[in-house]
Amino acid sequence: MKKLLVFMMAALMLVALAVTGCGGEEKKAAEAPEKVLRVATEPTFAPFEFQEEGSDKLSGFDMDLIRAIGAKMGYKVEIANMGFDALIPALNTGNIDVAIAGMSITDERKQAVGMSDPYYTSGLIVMVQKDNNDIKSIEDLKGKRIAAQIGTTGAAKAHSVEGAVVTEFNTNTESAMELTNGGVDAVINDSPVIGYYLAQGGSEVAKTVGDVMEAEQYGIAVKKDNTKLLEDINKALAELKKDGEYDKIYKTWFGEVKK
Ligand code: GLN
Repeated sequence: MKKLLVFMMAALMLVALAVTGCGGEEKKAAEAPEKVLRVATEPTFAPFEFQEEGSDKLSGFDMDLIRAIGAKMGYKVEIANMGFDALIPALNTGNIDVAIAGMSITDERKQAVGMSDPYYTSGLIVMVQKDNNDIKSIEDLKGKRIAAQIGTTGAAKAHSVEGAVVTEFNTNTESAMELTNGGVDAVINDSPVIGYYLAQGGSEVAKTVGDVMEAEQYGIAVKKDNTKLLEDINKALAELKKDGEYDKIYKTWFGEVKK
């Protein structure tokens, strides 16, 4: 009899524990849902963002950086693909929280969205077919056919060339292909991206001419008045720079730490 009582009490305690344990967890989940940072990029911009062949995974410097920033801020980072010219509208309609896409900080963009502190210094350059000996710099592009990605600083630069016929492509892949096929005389794009393309086999068909143009700083974009998110991103970026994580990511993609 005594044994049975002890057994029943133990069983009751177990049931009670299970019930409260389970209820407790449910409550916790309801109180603290996982925070998701909805990020978007345009992934034809290696080594900053690209899709590895045969995989959906987005890789690159920007991708590692935003994942590290999200982790510092306590967010789960989800990254979607979209056209480069769709990023700013998507921020301002609230479809995404953050755009990171090698996006240069310009006065025009600062009017439209919030831009973070700079995280990378870049600049434009001209690429032509390998055996082109007529075009030696941007000065020689007057009246020529130029390809660039839609909505980029490269496209704006191309439009500033007197008499140039500019074609804006949705992806950088298409711009490069058009040059290979002889549909255009030159491509204008960011120097580190063209450098990567040439190093990955592009130098069989293309080369750069002239110097890297004026410096452009990449920034992370958020909706115009989302100052809280912008502050948190800047804080996380500063911490990553301080604790060596930024340098680690930089080294992964560029081989050495920038001076
Ligand atoms: N840095 C350039 C710009 O902001 C190009 C960006 C890109 O093609 N992803 O316009």
